[in-house]
Amino acid sequence: MIDFRADLHCHSTCSDGTLSPKELLILAKNSGLSGLSITDHDSIESYSQACTFANEIGIEIVTGAEFSTTLKGISVHILAYAYSPENILIKDLCENHKHRRRERNLKILEKLAKHNMPITEEEVLACSAQHDENFKTTIGRPHIALAMINKGYVKDIREAFDKYLGESCCCYDPGKSISTEDTLETLHKAGALVVIAHPHLIGNSEIVSKLLHMNFDGIEGYYSRFNKDQCERWLKIGKNKNWLITGGSDFHGDTKPNSILGSSWVNEETFRVIQTRFKENIQQ
Ligand code: AMP
Ligand code: FE
Ligand code: FE
Ligand code: ZN
Repeated sequence: MIDFRADLHCHSTCSDGTLSPKELLILAKNSGLSGLSITDHDSIESYSQACTFANEIGIEIVTGAEFSTTLKGISVHILAYAYSPENILIKDLCENHKHRRRERNLKILEKLAKHNMPITEEEVLACSAQHDENFKTTIGRPHIALAMINKGYVKDIREAFDKYLGESCCCYDPGKSISTEDTLETLHKAGALVVIAHPHLIGNSEIVSKLLHMNFDGIEGYYSRFNKDQCERWLKIGKNKNWLITGGSDFHGDTKPNSILGSSWVNEETFRVIQTRFKENIQQ
């Protein structure tokens, strides 16, 4: 019998990944995964096609998304699973993020221009899959980084983040924030299961402690860039709280070549819990 493995964290061209939702599902199938959740940044766009296509190629899928939130000024990513793609609260949240991101990206472009690296919004859009008529794309800093490479300002994405786009760098702008508390409340109203993403990347113990006291449904205990000891810590916390322990690779394709699809995953039992909620949500 083939072991059931489901990767619950990956990105498509609907945000800053480099494979389309269909290509991602085909890769998942060819990698021997039994289940997948596509978790684009602030977007549920892939689910206009992903469920039908997953069904066609014989891989199981549950809805997912990774939302950018802010807690006491610190950036916190949270994962939402099992919502209905038709849910109006989720759609509105994604729409708010679209506006937030456009304003923020324009501020970053202003700062880059002040540092003698002019780039137009069109040049950034050209680095995304925006030309694909099937999907709208969440535009993020990786697309700005690609435009910087095209203009010859930096040699690679890493240099763009290390020197200019990282959170402590001269051309970063956080833009308007959407709070972790509000996002969690909205996602719960929408019937989603809500999970703290890659907790070890938060790097601020006060924020982690605050998050652990909030009413999340789970924690991402298995993550491609956690070592065994790091996993242990989050697994213990998750078990004590009786939370779901989720896992995924955070695969992005070429923009983050070190994360391999399927390198972190959950077992069938965890997948079925999320899938059961997903089926309930779409039947309502
Ligand atoms: P944004 O959501 O637009 O603020 O951009 C954040 C995204 O940029 C993250 O989800 C990562 O995919 C990517 N990212 C962040 N830091 C780096 C880095 N140092 N190198 C490459 N990609 C990065
Ligand atoms: Fe990303
Ligand atoms: Fe993240
Ligand atoms: Zn991610």
